Amino acid sequence: MLTPNGRGAIAVIAIWGEPLSLAESILESLFEASSGKRISQLKRGSLMYGRWRATQEDVVVVPFSDRFEIQCHGGKVAPLSILKSLSEKGVGEASADEALAHFEKRSWLAELTTAMTQATTERTALTLLSQFHQVPNLIAEIQADVQAGKSKSTNLISRLDQILSWERLGRHLTTPWSVVLCGRPNVGKSSLINAIVGFERAIVHEVAGTTRDVVTQLTAVDGWPIELKDTAGLRESNDAIEIQGVALSHSEINQADLVIAVFDASQLDAAANWELIDAVKASIVVINKIDLISDSRALDQWASARPACCEPQIQTTSTTEKKGIEELVLAVAKRLVPAEPPTDVLIPATRLQVEMIQRLRHLIEGENWKAAGDLVGDW
Ligand code: GDP
Repeated sequence: MLTPNGRGAIAVIAIWGEPLSLAESILESLFEASSGKRISQLKRGSLMYGRWRATQEDVVVVPFSDRFEIQCHGGKVAPLSILKSLSEKGVGEASADEALAHFEKRSWLAELTTAMTQATTERTALTLLSQFHQVPNLIAEIQADVQAGKSKSTNLISRLDQILSWERLGRHLTTPWSVVLCGRPNVGKSSLINAIVGFERAIVHEVAGTTRDVVTQLTAVDGWPIELKDTAGLRESNDAIEIQGVALSHSEINQADLVIAVFDASQLDAAANWELIDAVKASIVVINKIDLISDSRALDQWASARPACCEPQIQTTSTTEKKGIEELVLAVAKRLVPAEPPTDVLIPATRLQVEMIQRLRHLIEGENWKAAGDLVGDW
């Protein structure tokens, strides 16, 4: 299926095979042209209107040199029923990525254009747009360096490494950063998520241990998309469901881009807290419910127990009094994107772009200048 999930007027399904006539005969058995003609009589790129036999759905079939496209009503029902009848004929399903890789050589700009359709915030869209304007020049520079060959190879390798250093940011121009909040039950994790997102979403509960699942919430900080995850409270539990939740939260923590450890200011326990901070590699520590303590010396004492190994940023908050939330949001953004993305360096925003750079780097290291030239020639 080439069209994205979600609502749309028309859905497009591509079918191909080796040889292509195999796809044609399968299609012929499932599709009935209104004109009574056969698909083989149709010219490339022209279209044929008719019905899908199984569902009597109106469809249009378009032949290309490497595939046939079936265009039907958008939404879910029509395309799914077509996919179903294809699968009953033994046709396997490919992802849209696989399909695109099959159909065309993807240029850097084509990849960037795809990425631009997936940006979810204004800031990520603008970052990609400024790339879009720079790409022709930046690619031309790389092509010139490759042409110059050996004399430029050190320069070129460091240029490619610089591009690869933006891979993490690039990936998160289309997918949100994962930010996990962890800590004991009832310290205020759900309340903090609500405060950050600005509306009630996570369930705030008085009883300890009620966040059993990982509750996620999409939002943006300083224009960067993030997915906030509230994990099951980290504590020993006898409850089977909660044990599952705790195990789930450990795997979320390992995969997170940023971990925030949350504590209750009125229940600080320096030894245990720092042990947890170290264990989950938290880069931000939130001391919540700061409204409950009147003497800040306890907090200083707690902070002075910090072991030499970890140096997280500490932020005090009160969700009830709405204090410290803005500072927390900015701290999160700063940790994820410490420096403004450059406009004079290619930022690889898709998996294929990363592979393109890695492949080129490999060829240059092997001094395979001819293949390197052919590769960038296609960009
Ligand atoms: P979680 O289990 O860590 O997700 O904690 P919740 O967000 O469900 O909060 C637990 C309880 O602490 C609720 O009754 C909240 O209203 C309360 N709470 C959360 N933040 C604060 C705060 O900053 N100050 C005070 N006094 N209470 C808070």
